[in-house]
Amino acid sequence: MSLKKEDVLRDMQKCFFNLKTVEDKKEETITERERVDSIDIRCTEYPELKEDFRQIVKAGWLEKTPPKGGRIYQRRWVQLDSEYLRYFQSIKEVYSKRMVSLGSVFKVVSVGDVRFELHSQSRTFLFRAENTQERDDWVSCIEKILSDRKHSLEPRNLFFKNGSVSVSFEGYLEMLSPRTKVYTLINRDKLFLFKSHEEYFQGMGITDIDMRMANVRDGENKRSFTLTTPYRAFSFMVDSESEKQRWCESLTECVSRSLSCDGVCESVWRVQANRICADCSSSMPEWASVNLCVLLCEKCAGAHRNLGQNISKVRSLKLDERVWTDDLIRVFLMLGNGKANKFWGANIPPSERLSASANSEQRLKHITDKYKNGKYRKYHKLFGQQEALNNALCLAMQSADLLETLTLLNCGADAACYTRIPEFPTPLSLAKRYSQTVQAELLTQYITSEPITTEVKDADIQSQCGYLFKTASSARPITEHKPKADFSQRWCCLGDGMFSYYRNEQSHHKNGGMKISEIICLSVNSPGKHGYEHTFELYSEEGRVYLFGTDDGSIAKNWIRAVTMAVLPPALFEVCGTCDRLGRLRCTEASHGIGWFCLSGFKLHVLLEDTVQTIDLRKLLRLKFSNTGGAIVLVWRGGPLHLQADRRPHFVGWQTCIQQKSGAGNERLSQQQLTDLGIPVTIDRCLDHITRYGLLSPGIYRLSGINSHVTKLLDKFQNNARTVTWCESEYSVHDVANTLKRFLREVKGGVFNGQENNASWLRVAGLEDGCEKIQRYQILLSNLPDINREALKVLIHHLVCVQNLSNENQMTIRNLGIVFGPTLFQTDGKDTTASQVVEELIQNYCSIFKVSESDLEKQLNMMSVILDKHKSQTLIRTPSSTICGVYLEKKEEGAEVLLQVAADMTVLKLVSVVLELKGIQQVNEECWSCFEVLEKEDMERRLHYQERVLPVYFSLSNDCHLLVKKNHSIIRIMRYLENKVNLSKSGPLRVCEVKSESSKNFHTRHCDLSAETFRLHKELLGSQVEKEYPVKEIKLYHGCRSKLHPPTPWGLTLIHDKQQWYLCCENEEELIEWTATFYSIQCNGDIWPSW
Ligand SMILES: [Zn+2]
Repeated sequence: MSLKKEDVLRDMQKCFFNLKTVEDKKEETITERERVDSIDIRCTEYPELKEDFRQIVKAGWLEKTPPKGGRIYQRRWVQLDSEYLRYFQSIKEVYSKRMVSLGSVFKVVSVGDVRFELHSQSRTFLFRAENTQERDDWVSCIEKILSDRKHSLEPRNLFFKNGSVSVSFEGYLEMLSPRTKVYTLINRDKLFLFKSHEEYFQGMGITDIDMRMANVRDGENKRSFTLTTPYRAFSFMVDSESEKQRWCESLTECVSRSLSCDGVCESVWRVQANRICADCSSSMPEWASVNLCVLLCEKCAGAHRNLGQNISKVRSLKLDERVWTDDLIRVFLMLGNGKANKFWGANIPPSERLSASANSEQRLKHITDKYKNGKYRKYHKLFGQQEALNNALCLAMQSADLLETLTLLNCGADAACYTRIPEFPTPLSLAKRYSQTVQAELLTQYITSEPITTEVKDADIQSQCGYLFKTASSARPITEHKPKADFSQRWCCLGDGMFSYYRNEQSHHKNGGMKISEIICLSVNSPGKHGYEHTFELYSEEGRVYLFGTDDGSIAKNWIRAVTMAVLPPALFEVCGTCDRLGRLRCTEASHGIGWFCLSGFKLHVLLEDTVQTIDLRKLLRLKFSNTGGAIVLVWRGGPLHLQADRRPHFVGWQTCIQQKSGAGNERLSQQQLTDLGIPVTIDRCLDHITRYGLLSPGIYRLSGINSHVTKLLDKFQNNARTVTWCESEYSVHDVANTLKRFLREVKGGVFNGQENNASWLRVAGLEDGCEKIQRYQILLSNLPDINREALKVLIHHLVCVQNLSNENQMTIRNLGIVFGPTLFQTDGKDTTASQVVEELIQNYCSIFKVSESDLEKQLNMMSVILDKHKSQTLIRTPSSTICGVYLEKKEEGAEVLLQVAADMTVLKLVSVVLELKGIQQVNEECWSCFEVLEKEDMERRLHYQERVLPVYFSLSNDCHLLVKKNHSIIRIMRYLENKVNLSKSGPLRVCEVKSESSKNFHTRHCDLSAETFRLHKELLGSQVEKEYPVKEIKLYHGCRSKLHPPTPWGLTLIHDKQQWYLCCENEEELIEWTATFYSIQCNGDIWPSW
């Protein structure tokens, strides 16, 4: 800590002591009270395994003196995280006796051998450790946290870390047991208890209650209410009924907010054991079996689906948002993988454990054994005694013990048994009576997974009959509007594997129809496309299109749902929800060549083999429609996907839909092409460019670029942002900066999402109270759509970086405000409020966007170090990796092998990756190489095995490609060189230099290749040398432009700068010898790796 800062703190301390002497009297009473300082909030139900959500830095037993002079040490379990030091009556307890905010602690001091003192603004705590080592550990841990925390000189709140205060309700409550008055406050998802309002301001509390597992209940008394957690009940009393009402509302709101504020994943992953797959331990599982209560990785989820719905109900944490009620999330928080596995996996012998790398067969076997056969489960002690099990279940319903319930249900207890209580005859009603809503949820999930119920439900949906209107089927895609007159009414039936239609309900003669297995696609039209409001199309395998319609939205919906369910494999049906288009397509990556697809908004769900994957089409790395065959290549972060052309009409529809949903440049931010992190590509690329080249540029964002450049670049982005690349020299940093500004100024809705929201942001700038202002900004920020919020965050982060270098670039916060205010708010700039908002966002970036100040500082420091280092030297920067397309053996439409190529990938590596991808074993004598092929000119160049791929790939012009194939001549070349002592070659060759269209003639000239130089004589040996080139600078191609009509087929082309020479040998032998000598000189003899 710097001296100056220490002085200030000391002053503050003095100030505080003065304050205290003024309040001497009060001090006295506080002292009295603090002798009985501890409030005991013991659990009635101890957690079996303390799965703490806090990130504990250190925990252990310490002895502490009672405050104010007491001499008897008390043994306490002490826990330290980055924000608080808490101590507990014992290790089992959930609720602390005290929590001290480290924000209020200004130093920690070692005393004697084993003791240390914690000095807070209002109190000093003395702790005694068992030995010096232990003491020193505590002191250094606390010191580290204190030094990590940024001491603000005017701390607004000592209890909460800066910027994290969001109190929604506070006040005094009377706690009933132990009976005491507490100051209570709801901050985000926790309820905090304090002995008094003063203590809150001094940074000291009693305990905090996690509301995620809490429940609010009305009390017996008109003025009392109870908050229950799995560990104990807290009863409170207030002064009036209306006050009670307000508390109950605020608490209930806090409970549901605490569960919904994060995504489902983030919520359930808070429990450590939920962060790995319950079966194979892969990390961050995104699936769950909601009846078995385990979280699963994608592969295990696939195996679970194979068990069938009645055994395992698989749901996605990310996609099935509606399934995840607060109570279901609580089931996974309170039970989760840790406890559920205590039951399901109690007896897994080490040899039968499932590893993350297991194949699908091993996986399915393990999972079938584990859940379907219950092979490893822990038997309940009452196993086999039906009546006792049922009784135990009824008892469990009145407690919070979910593991007991899970065990009972899966050891034979009858979920629908009679409780012998007429008012609450079933276990479910009993759980509800005792307000055990989480138990009720667990039971419901179990009951609804029982086979009988599901079958009834499926049968309900799968057979469907009713009137629909239908047009005559067609062999072409239906693009034109069909008026009502084109439709006729038909009685349609779906069931028994058939979709059929009849003239009317009474008719027995089928009018037409198709087998469900022959339906290859269902497409839902947007309302109003045809005469009937709601229409959908079915495509048959034979290539016919059937159009159905109705004016009733719910009828249409039912039919679509029924057909979806009938057509799609169950694994895909479960995840797809409502979709716009679904069906099967030929796909290279699928095992039998058929993949199942389902398009829902921007999401394309894909079922290949037995794995469902979801592709956000906006985040595609590449989308290619090959014009001749009509195939589609999608490249996403999971790899490439080749959808093969099909002449049936459904394929065109897929093409259009995928294109439409892959993001468009003229739409709102959320409909743009996105990066993997969800940032619009245009913003990302521009910021990246400016960060690399423009941060030190004076007047960046303020100076204008060349208008035509800006227009051209923006057009490119709007046309297809993914494919936009440019080199540093093509556009100046100011061109790029202005492209970004124009994009932000013109994008639909703007960053703040519409006029109305713009106004709300502008209103906040007018507020007086700085603290309230920040809170308002935070609220507005959280109300923005995800994409807008992330875009705003990266943008402001970037501006923070820009202004950090304002000494170099002259762009102060004020300057940036002037430029970006009107840009982001899409205004004319007359009103300065817009600029003020941008300035405030930059100034308060950390607190508004909740970014740690120390992280930001580290980033800024690192950036200036890098920039300093590179200020003098220009860097050659190529993207760190990109997707490249390479052909194998010959170029064929759609046969491109796509692979990720990193900046340092060599040709040797590329060849081996391509062969591996295609399953080709490399044999030594075969010599696979990679060639740069110039299609039109019939020329190719063998790339040296150590050459880097990316620079070559980026330099390829339109009709060039990379080709991996066997190199037949390399062995002959090597043989020739083996016997060679002197590396040189000379002799006559037929040579042609094309200077103009007229001179295309080959003349025999003497050529000489020796030392490192290639010499070209005017005529034959002895004549004047006309040209001389360093061999290493020459690019050597095999073949000659066919237009030149070379006199022999054994040609070579030399390219140096812009000059091209064509050389023709008399025979193959000669060609090999020249080539070998060229190669060998060019790479100092290192022609082939393993020779
Ligand atoms: Zn797994």
